[in-house]
Amino acid sequence: MPETKASNCQKCGVEITGVYYCPACVAILDKALAEKNAAVEKHTTISHVDLSDIFNHTDEEGNELFCNTSGKLYLKLAGEKASRKVGSIGRKGGRIKYIKPVKEKNRHRKSNSWGICWTVLNKMPNDGEIIFYSPEAIYSIEVMRARGKGQFLFFKRVGYEKQLFVPVKDWTIERLGGQ
Ligand SMILES: [Zn+2]
Repeated sequence: MPETKASNCQKCGVEITGVYYCPACVAILDKALAEKNAAVEKHTTISHVDLSDIFNHTDEEGNELFCNTSGKLYLKLAGEKASRKVGSIGRKGGRIKYIKPVKEKNRHRKSNSWGICWTVLNKMPNDGEIIFYSPEAIYSIEVMRARGKGQFLFFKRVGYEKQLFVPVKDWTIERLGGQ
């Protein structure tokens, strides 16, 4: 007779055999994940039109912003060889949207704010929208509002990505449910 190891569902605690969750909780978790994915998709799906005319730009300090034809944005800081990914740009409903995946741990703790790449922000129209999304939440803000609410927290240094920090409370937040 095969040995069946009894354990407990990690969500509701009922006794189960050999899996992490009971079938009822699996169904709940699957549904929550599907809703979360749908919410992320709703906010981050954009038409990746070529916006390189606007976003390909080198500033007076020699920092280069580069936008490829599918809307991926790269920033090469003056004096650096490698470029860094700074998000994507595209259009939706006639507006330009700047979208960037983020991690909650990369939020500026002391001021509780998100840093927006200044070079990208400078190229955004006033009615454009900025969307940051983490596994926990979707943060969105209109460019004009970000400009009004943001502040610089550090003095510029060579090799440092200049960012405008906008307090979390000034963004529209959609929490992503789930586990
Ligand atoms: Zn359960």
